[in-house]
Amino acid sequence: MRKIDLTDFQVATSETARHINRRIALNIIRRYQPLSRAELARRSGLQRSTVSAIVAQLIAEGWVTEGASPVSGRGRRPRFLHLNVERAGIVAVDLRPGTTRVALAGLDARFLMQTEWPTPATPRELAAELARTVAAFRSSQPDIVYEGMGVSLPGRVDDTGRLVFAPNLRWEGMEIRQPIERAVGLPIVLENAASACALAELWFGRQADTVKHLVAVTVSEGVGVGLLVNGQVVHGRDAMAGEFGHVTLDENGPPCACGKRGCWEQYASNSAAVRHYQGLVDGGAGTRRAGGKDAALTFDDVLRFAGEGDARAAAALDRMAHYIGVGVASLIVGLAPQVVVIVGEVTAAWDRVGPVVAATVKRRTLSANTTPIVPTDPATQPRLRGAVTLVVQQHFGAPAVA
Ligand SMILES: [Zn+2]
Repeated sequence: MRKIDLTDFQVATSETARHINRRIALNIIRRYQPLSRAELARRSGLQRSTVSAIVAQLIAEGWVTEGASPVSGRGRRPRFLHLNVERAGIVAVDLRPGTTRVALAGLDARFLMQTEWPTPATPRELAAELARTVAAFRSSQPDIVYEGMGVSLPGRVDDTGRLVFAPNLRWEGMEIRQPIERAVGLPIVLENAASACALAELWFGRQADTVKHLVAVTVSEGVGVGLLVNGQVVHGRDAMAGEFGHVTLDENGPPCACGKRGCWEQYASNSAAVRHYQGLVDGGAGTRRAGGKDAALTFDDVLRFAGEGDARAAAALDRMAHYIGVGVASLIVGLAPQVVVIVGEVTAAWDRVGPVVAATVKRRTLSANTTPIVPTDPATQPRLRGAVTLVVQQHFGAPAVA
């Protein structure tokens, strides 16, 4: 039960009830499609006449379509309702320090188009680049209604659309929503990438409908954590909740982009694994294994070397995995989530990494802690899917009352 917020409430009107019932019906159709009006009435407990009125409205607005009856037989055949996944075009943006990925998706988070480019140096240049990409989407998919844009960020953004924390991006304190909204001309929803991934698990993942307490850990250039409690993202004071990646493990550890030393992400991120590997190979000189070129070693290289049987690359991954486990154990003991999902390139090596994470977590948690740790499928592009979810939940989420 939630206390009524007397600084931000809405009294109920007859419109409120209609709005709530409409959202419930829309969600039941999304979840159980294809289904008949009779089944919708049964599952919702609404009167048949109310269901008919709601469905008529949803069809008129294009959210729901009516398909042909799948079975032929005698008498009046029910016509089945489907979610019209093509109604809305959602532009999904996965902004990372090196590369920005942009996709066009339907309501089912299936990607229709996709592109990527190097992340520009400033939010203003990013906005201009996004405007060009959306224009290109519009010209090749002109029939789609462009509903909005969701952006997964490597940082934390406040209610006003300002980046309050983004150490790996170095855009702290900068306005980001306004320049994008102006350049692109669509409503923009911004969210931390880990929080967006957590939401995507709820809306599109393979979790049971009863999962409401979920933690998503994004392992990339840094380590991000998204917290869902009672099905809602926890934002905390100044939108800073979830920064477990910057909890200090060793005050004398390696320097971190946040200005401190020895943060969790300095041991458990992709960049950390590269450093672990370099430390094992050449004491940190940082050259590629073969050819002696001085191009920077990447995490993909470490993954590939480990796959090829390089014992030092394998040891670097084991060390990274151990530290992923160290942080995840704290999350499990402290928050008791129903599931922890891991997002990132490291999931491609989960056969190797998963058991090390699990063993560390087992040593460091209570016997009553039984939270499963699940890698996300990289093929689903979780960070982009998270960006899609930011827009989807605006149309399907529970309406705010009281
Ligand atoms: Zn840090």
